[in-house]
Amino acid sequence: MNNDRTYDIVITGGGIMGSATAYYLSRMAPGLKMAVVERDPSYARASTTLSMSNVRIQFSLKENILISQYAVQVLDAFEEEMTVEDRRPRIYYHRDGNLFLVGEQNLQAARRAYDLQLSLGCRVQWWSPEQIKAHYPLYDTSGMVGGTFGPDDGHFDAYAALMAYKAKARSQGAHYLKGEVVRIRTAGGRAEGVDLGSGETLSAGCVVNCGGAWAAQIAETAGVKLPVIPVKRQVFALDPAVKPEGPLPLTVLLSGLYFRTETGGLILLGKSMEEDPVGFNFAWDDQRFMEILWPELAEFVPAWDRLKLVRGWAGLYDVNTLDHNAIIGEWPEIGGLFLATGFSGHGLQQGPAVGRYLAELILKQPASLDLSIFNPRRVLENKPLSEAGIV
Ligand SMILES: Cc1cc2nc3c(=O)[nH]c(=O)nc-3n(C[C@H](O)[C@H](O)[C@H](O)COP(=O)(O)OP(=O)(O)OC[C@H]3O[C@@H](n4cnc5c(N)ncnc54)[C@H](O)[C@@H]3O)c2cc1C
Repeated sequence: MNNDRTYDIVITGGGIMGSATAYYLSRMAPGLKMAVVERDPSYARASTTLSMSNVRIQFSLKENILISQYAVQVLDAFEEEMTVEDRRPRIYYHRDGNLFLVGEQNLQAARRAYDLQLSLGCRVQWWSPEQIKAHYPLYDTSGMVGGTFGPDDGHFDAYAALMAYKAKARSQGAHYLKGEVVRIRTAGGRAEGVDLGSGETLSAGCVVNCGGAWAAQIAETAGVKLPVIPVKRQVFALDPAVKPEGPLPLTVLLSGLYFRTETGGLILLGKSMEEDPVGFNFAWDDQRFMEILWPELAEFVPAWDRLKLVRGWAGLYDVNTLDHNAIIGEWPEIGGLFLATGFSGHGLQQGPAVGRYLAELILKQPASLDLSIFNPRRVLENKPLSEAGIV
């Protein structure tokens, strides 16, 4: 137990963002004294562990594509890189692909995104409806213009990846503390540390807010207003009577409904909806699936008019209402206060690139991948970014 409560860096929240940042910081600056404060080490409500665990290069903003290219590179070498002594993590990275369907209404945007992805060296293919049908005979492609397929896209075990980052960061000297940050302390326009619910204070000249869907609440304690809200999203696990012959990619319909295969012949399905409630609510609701999502699904996959809803869950998107993109960097009005939030539905795959970028920023090293486009200054200046690939 470390009784000296003075640190170089305190990270609030030990989800994928906090833990990836701790990993890169402790790798780049071995002697650094760093605490990661996590309220719930079981991560029962962390978005990281409640996510669909998907990674895709299919975005329309250059930096989001580059972030995912880095993620794919990291995931390939992850188990080796995260090995601690003889303990090698297993993250089961499945490259089952992602298939984004294209209709008349999104044809131009899809073509632009596809051209950009190709120009950045991504492996992505434009498929006709006939090609889609040939790969996935269960799908009804009538009314589609085609689809874009990313063969490197896929999914992995998010909990295992999180545990691996945490174990590796700890092996490199990061301290994980169980506690709740109730206030970010500031003085003279600089961060000074955090107060915990236990009454203790941790002093640090650098505080990193990786609080996920709670990040805006945490920032508010330092007088910082972020356009980030917690929005409930639901996932359903289905057991269809008719099983596909092989794995199905994460398939995104024109309506925004998406699904993919999961271990054990199951299908995971979700959809972001306008009426999804804002707040810290984790109840899931089978009626939504039965009455709204199932009919939509069965239209696209007619054979799935017979299936069993096995279970469901709800997690929170940290939705950036300005532009649904990440907010990463130092808050312009408080020196030493860094943010990584607003990831909406694509933060898990951004963990590696964001963790490395934040570490470089904090340590004042040149950026391996320049993510300054996500600087929090755009919040103050009300300058939204544009990304067409938000799911
Ligand atoms: C249903 C769903 C599906 C998703 N699917 C995908 C996907 O397929 N691909 C993808 O890339 N992304 C996906 N996402 C998004 C992704 O999960 C998140 O963007 C990402 O996990 C955010 O990581 P984080 O570390 O910022 O937040 P979290 O994982 O939520 O971690 C934040 C941590 O901070 C802790 N904390 C909060 N407040 C305090 C406090 N005051 N003191 C101490 N600790 C605190 C919390 O306990 C939590 O552990 C999905 C999200 C959901 C909800």
